[in-house]
Amino acid sequence: MKGIPLETCDSLRHALGWIMRKALQDGVVDHVLVPSRGPEDSFPWILAARPEPLSDAEPIPPVMSVQGARALSSVTGSTSEGAMLAVMRPCEARASIEVAKLRQSDLSSVVVLTMDCPGAVPLARYRDGDIMEPDPEDPESLRPLCRQCTGFTAAGDLCLVRSGENVLAVPLTEGGRRFAAALGLDGEGDLDEWLEWKEGLGKQRERTGEEARQSLKEDTRGLSGLAAVYSGCVGCRSCRTVCPVCYCRLCFIDMKDRRSPAAAHLDRSVSAGAARLVSDTLLFHIGRMAHMSLSCVACGMCEDACPADIPVGRLVSMVGRETAALFDYTAGEDPDEPLPLSTFLTEELHDFED
Ligand code: SF4
Ligand code: SF4
Ligand code: SF4
Repeated sequence: MKGIPLETCDSLRHALGWIMRKALQDGVVDHVLVPSRGPEDSFPWILAARPEPLSDAEPIPPVMSVQGARALSSVTGSTSEGAMLAVMRPCEARASIEVAKLRQSDLSSVVVLTMDCPGAVPLARYRDGDIMEPDPEDPESLRPLCRQCTGFTAAGDLCLVRSGENVLAVPLTEGGRRFAAALGLDGEGDLDEWLEWKEGLGKQRERTGEEARQSLKEDTRGLSGLAAVYSGCVGCRSCRTVCPVCYCRLCFIDMKDRRSPAAAHLDRSVSAGAARLVSDTLLFHIGRMAHMSLSCVACGMCEDACPADIPVGRLVSMVGRETAALFDYTAGEDPDEPLPLSTFLTEELHDFED
């Protein structure tokens, strides 16, 4: 495997900035979508049509405040959009693929540019001024799902990577190859050191994830375990709002005719001695888990947004991992592979017949 050396760039940020500006200046794309540096240490996404606003771009912000796939789905699907370059983290690129499969965005004229991701700082720690930059060497500086992320690089159409001292562009799709050629990028550079780093960190993250999942599985065993983990839920639904792939236009939990009538609660309190209120917390979380489990890309947004410190992203992604394995499916990987629930194979899932 070879990459295209970017010899004049000494860092990933420098290379990302150079590519964004050149793509707009040369008319290779009409727009660039990228996070920027906003007031009060915030990082709003901008859609730039000229190179000048890109001076505020921050393509690798320390925190994820809005998932890139949500930003992207809000600006695709219009016939007037032209060609677009979207600069995002690998988990945002994977979410974009799932969102497109769910027909809530259109990636046909989008080139997704990613990078080796350093991870993101937990939002609450960042807001407290406690940790301001992720340090891949210090797991405490990373969000829990970043600590176990194995998809921290090699996503999207083109990925910028470091191999030793060098910065290289790695095209991963035909669109990425065409984009690199349109920018005049060529040459071949060695990726050995990047491949070694990727494999080493991937194995370490897999081990961390396995241990964390085992422990979470113990904590959430049975309905009572699950109820205990979600007992602090304040019902704000932020986990649903920030999730890039939570796809229903009207959430089942908000449908009026789904709510239990008051009489049902009164009857239950009489028969059981007491009824727990509000009663739909677990129903919401189990329902969301069922909806999300094949498309969750383990981006950690839901968990970062949770005011009650519930490991909601770790839970959904843990269940998702097992569900997806049943279908031999990996969320966000292959844009051409149909969603398992949109296809029907007569020979699948016989194990569950009896
Ligand atoms: S989950 Fe964390 S480490 Fe993985 S790609 Fe997303 S931000 Fe980066
Ligand atoms: S459920 Fe949570 S971790 Fe999974 S894609 Fe949605 S926000 Fe990301
Ligand atoms: S964000 Fe947290 S507190 Fe709010 S509904 Fe989701 S799990 Fe409950």
